[in-house]
Amino acid sequence: MKSLKENFQKAHIVIIGSGIIGKFNALELSELGFKVTIIDPAQHKNSSNSALGLLMGNMYQKRRGRSWDLRKQSIELWPKWIKFLQQFNCELNIEKPLIQLTTNEEKFKKLKIFIHENHDPNLQILKKDSILIKNINNIFQTKNIKGIISFNDGRIDAMSLLKTLDKYLKNEKINFLEDEIIKIKKSKNQWISKTKNNKEIKSDIVILCNSLNAVNLIDGLSQNIKLKPVLGQAMEIDINDPEVDLLSLPKQFSMNGKNIIPKSKNKLIIGSTDEYSTKPGENTFEKLTNFLDKKPTWLINGQVTKKWFGVRSRPEGEPSPIMKNLRDGLIICTGFYKNGILLAPACSKWVGNEIKDYFS
Ligand SMILES: Cc1cc2nc3c(=O)[nH]c(=O)nc-3n(C[C@H](O)[C@H](O)[C@H](O)COP(=O)(O)OP(=O)(O)OC[C@H]3O[C@@H](n4cnc5c(N)ncnc54)[C@H](O)[C@@H]3O)c2cc1C
Repeated sequence: MKSLKENFQKAHIVIIGSGIIGKFNALELSELGFKVTIIDPAQHKNSSNSALGLLMGNMYQKRRGRSWDLRKQSIELWPKWIKFLQQFNCELNIEKPLIQLTTNEEKFKKLKIFIHENHDPNLQILKKDSILIKNINNIFQTKNIKGIISFNDGRIDAMSLLKTLDKYLKNEKINFLEDEIIKIKKSKNQWISKTKNNKEIKSDIVILCNSLNAVNLIDGLSQNIKLKPVLGQAMEIDINDPEVDLLSLPKQFSMNGKNIIPKSKNKLIIGSTDEYSTKPGENTFEKLTNFLDKKPTWLINGQVTKKWFGVRSRPEGEPSPIMKNLRDGLIICTGFYKNGILLAPACSKWVGNEIKDYFS
């Protein structure tokens, strides 16, 4: 009888889509010993390249259900993967802590209950008279900002993570095909993925990590899966106020639902919007800066130096993400409308386990 490892080494897996989810699946499966091919016509133009990289795991208030389980597993897996990937980029890291701020009393009450009920020393309410809160109130020219700090959440630079994964995949000689898959079909125990350039790639397994386009490939296979586009915009702003030092703010935080990353004394990134569209709407500056009733003057006068967006996919009629074993060797792992970076390790682990079961 052949060993599992021998089966794995013989098996060929095609991953369609090379965003963070496709790349992380390739990492997981390659480490399990599988032969992997990734196919994507535009790997640098996807939503993963737009992500701000905040990892909101422990801060998540709903402590049960599938969404929490995936977060919890990712939180546990991230340190292992960071250590592993540091072989390819020693600077890759999760910058901690993460801070959640609000000016809404009701919201703050809920945050306080959440902290008191969890008894986690790594989750704390920020004291009103702390230097941090004083600096934040001072810079945002207000008095009522409150919040919590999570010492075990943080941010990973999404671009740096993607580049590090590329380095790993190249080092492992993982096949990469720059092409679009237009059809998949099963024939004689093998999957055949047909590309736009008329190539046919045979494999034992196909994993769909191609976001909105996944539904086009499984339509004919009568799967009732629906995905709708959710566009997210982000921008970088330069400010011109010698009195304001943005570096006195936390390194990463959210305020009334917007994520903010100060980059230097006079530069910050704000993201992101949720727009049910494939084209960015107008008034990006307004949409991204209306997180306070009264904006500070430096923000009103800020100059947008960069603007970008990404289109994510949100499942309709079922929770995000979609992770299903559709039929003998066809797996879907997509629909990451939010938190795709955070959840990548847990979802790839799930895919790995499904495939191990398939060959057992
Ligand atoms: C502005 C913004 C900020 C964000 N901030 C955060 C954050 O702070 N933290 C966080 O965790 N998440 C964040 N996200 C969400 C995160 O970016 C997504 O959840 C994640 O990138 C989804 O990754 P993916 O691999 O599923 O999809 P994508 O990155 O979109 O990749 C899908 C890939 O499939 C390819 N493809 C499509 N069709 C085909 C085909 N037929 N054949 C072959 N390939 C195909 C595409 O070219 C693409 O490369 C943010 C998103 C945006 C837009």
